[in-house]
Amino acid sequence: MIRLALAWAALVCPQDPDRSAPEKTFEGFTAFWEELSPEKWFFDLLGTLDDLGKFSRTDEFSARRDKDRGEFLKWMEDSKMLSSRYEIAKRSEGKEGRIVLDSVQKVRRKKRDFEKNKIEEVDQELPHRHVFRRVGETWLVEEVYKPCSACDGRGACGTCKGTGTAHDRACFACEGKKSCKYCGGEKLKKEELAKGGLELVVPDTETKYSTDLSSPKAAAQTLLDLSLRTAVEYSVRIRGFIERILKRFRLFVVPELVKKIEDELARETEAGKKRFREDRPRIDSVEEKGDRALVVIVTIGNWGRLIRSKEGENDRQEHRARHVLRKVGDRWLADAEQYPCWNCKGKGDCSACGGSGKTSDRECWGCKGTKKCSQCKGEGWADR
Ligand SMILES: [Zn+2]
Ligand SMILES: [Zn+2]
Ligand SMILES: [Zn+2]
Ligand SMILES: [Zn+2]
Repeated sequence: MIRLALAWAALVCPQDPDRSAPEKTFEGFTAFWEELSPEKWFFDLLGTLDDLGKFSRTDEFSARRDKDRGEFLKWMEDSKMLSSRYEIAKRSEGKEGRIVLDSVQKVRRKKRDFEKNKIEEVDQELPHRHVFRRVGETWLVEEVYKPCSACDGRGACGTCKGTGTAHDRACFACEGKKSCKYCGGEKLKKEELAKGGLELVVPDTETKYSTDLSSPKAAAQTLLDLSLRTAVEYSVRIRGFIERILKRFRLFVVPELVKKIEDELARETEAGKKRFREDRPRIDSVEEKGDRALVVIVTIGNWGRLIRSKEGENDRQEHRARHVLRKVGDRWLADAEQYPCWNCKGKGDCSACGGSGKTSDRECWGCKGTKKCSQCKGEGWADR
């Protein structure tokens, strides 16, 4: 059985794929990308990470989270790609002996039509460009251009659909130029294959995670540890994924690009160690109210938020999350997770009158004089 699996793996993933011509390399490289399906992988990862905290939540809270996940999965299912194949449209010579292949990816996918409220199957033709360089006896990928996501590779302004006019005047988005302002009408965007911003958290000492939920204070520590554990687990899996990709990648792309990705990963790993040492999340407050408790946890940067941020100014921002705990039996379980209200920035004040209760000497039309934010009712906190 094992031998069969190995033979199969060798058949699908030859260690020496045909790269004797740009077209051959293109075939192997695009097949590899298709098979990778990173969106699906990332969705599964988020589910796995969410499950780590299941023991700390009430059944109701777990059910709400599972429902959210189910809805997202359905949304993914509703826009699923059904088939995809590449056709080379043009072969041209690039600078210094490089070969440029322009191709069209013919995609059939599901799409939800919101007006008719039904799922349709649509066909798309998406442009791609690959630049190849000869390295020894092989042709390897040096640059990859993907369809611009703002215009879906059409090159036309999304606001005016390429007509140049919207609401009977020159389109404000493209200033009447008709072309997509993100790609300048080029339809393509260069893919940065060695990009940073992974926000890794890498322990350089052995870590123990508390699972004690016997008191609000103990539960607060457990939730704090959980955010650390989630960030560490995320980092381990992301690094593993990139390393796995690199194994196949190095067969198809120029060595400098492989080196660049390896260097970037090493740099991110070092940054992750520093983040682990210096940017620990902390408990801000624990407040007990009968069979409820409120725990506020402060994290630096994007710890535990599991999304990429742009490098730079936001990197050391504080993020606050409030966990609402409920006593179930002899354990304190998380029943909700809240974030500072976006409307009042967590202050709880009415956004129309700034919390004075009045606008131009009259009772505020926004809050009817209550001074409270309409979104969070003055709490300053909201679920998501
Ligand atoms: Zn426009
Ligand atoms: Zn565009
Ligand atoms: Zn508010
Ligand atoms: Zn008001």
